[in-house]
Amino acid sequence: MAFEINADLHIHSKYARGTSINMEIPLLAQQSKLKGIWLLATGDCLHRKWLDHLKENLKGEGIYEHEGMKFILQTEVQDKNAVHQIIFLPSFSKAEELREKLIRHSTNIDADGRPWLKLNGEEIAEKVLECGGMIGPAHAFTPYFGIFAHFNKLEDCYGKYAKNVHFLELGLSADSPMADHISELHKISLLSNSDAHSPYPVRLAREFNVIEMEDFTFESFRKAIEKKGGSGIKLNCGFYPQHGKYYATRCKNCPSYFTLEEAISLKWKCQKCKGPIKKGVVDRIKELSDSSGNPNRAKYIHIYPLAEIIAVAHGIENPSSVRVSRIWQAFIEKFGNEIQILINAAIEDIAKIDEKTAVYVKAFREDKIEHVPGGGGVYGKLLPLGKKGEVNFFKKEQKSLMEF
Ligand SMILES: [Zn+2]
Ligand SMILES: [Zn+2]
Repeated sequence: MAFEINADLHIHSKYARGTSINMEIPLLAQQSKLKGIWLLATGDCLHRKWLDHLKENLKGEGIYEHEGMKFILQTEVQDKNAVHQIIFLPSFSKAEELREKLIRHSTNIDADGRPWLKLNGEEIAEKVLECGGMIGPAHAFTPYFGIFAHFNKLEDCYGKYAKNVHFLELGLSADSPMADHISELHKISLLSNSDAHSPYPVRLAREFNVIEMEDFTFESFRKAIEKKGGSGIKLNCGFYPQHGKYYATRCKNCPSYFTLEEAISLKWKCQKCKGPIKKGVVDRIKELSDSSGNPNRAKYIHIYPLAEIIAVAHGIENPSSVRVSRIWQAFIEKFGNEIQILINAAIEDIAKIDEKTAVYVKAFREDKIEHVPGGGGVYGKLLPLGKKGEVNFFKKEQKSLMEF
């Protein structure tokens, strides 16, 4: 019998650059349960030390397990065109096999949990497919390492294996309605993942997927991603794209925003500070747009980590502060996990724990959230509700950005 699971399919281990030393399986399993995730990607599964850690801590085959939490073998690699690729693998032995195939194509495959390979997308895809794995682009629209920063279509990257690419990761600065302006993507699964570098629910599964699967096997996972037999992605949950670091076209050095036309006429140089202007995901998608949307796509719900909602609701700067943690803890004791609160719990019941937070969760569900849009590598900022003057200013700005 088919069932639906909450899955975060892209994270990193403690062996990837810039990650928490606490990225280890026992803590990840425990924190995933608090978040409300059932299936978590391992991240970095080609790294020698991390692969050994996984073997020590995970039981089963295909889809692995640690104390009730399910894990799938996953890694991200950087190809020679600076495109980040997500790879899923069906077993430890296949992970070892792929590692062997790739080791001579990297200066040092263990230098980073996210190895750099001297191969292009097509060459990597071939080796992944030989190992029974799956491959697709990570954070596809971001300006440095996304496939669409370097190419205009899947085939330009994957060559003859483009037809074997069944998924694409949206990244924090895009959602599925945006991505579906590109008709080539209509047929593949769109993933919303956290790319977390820290194991706590403020990062872990800040974006996740609800996947319908027949059972907990790698083959069922593959079927779901390939949209076979009625299984597949049933819901995507993630940031408002405006919250992402690369949403709008913005100066890297100062908070100036530009339309695509303005940036082009300025030759990508900010007239205020002379800093470089970075093309936003919204404008990159606008360039590639050849469709008005995809009516068959799973729904996308915009969410935010609960601790950050609590912090904004109470006007507290730091979502890791003791005051925020105390309220967060009270919520988890009552509802069991964070996703339950963000998506399912009745607003009246949320208000019984904390009224201010309930107001914000309701605003998220009713799509009444406003942002200072992110761009140029700086995250967007959620605006407190009711800040009318500011809100109207940014609303106008965002509207012009979103017009295709
Ligand atoms: Zn990446
Ligand atoms: Zn500037």
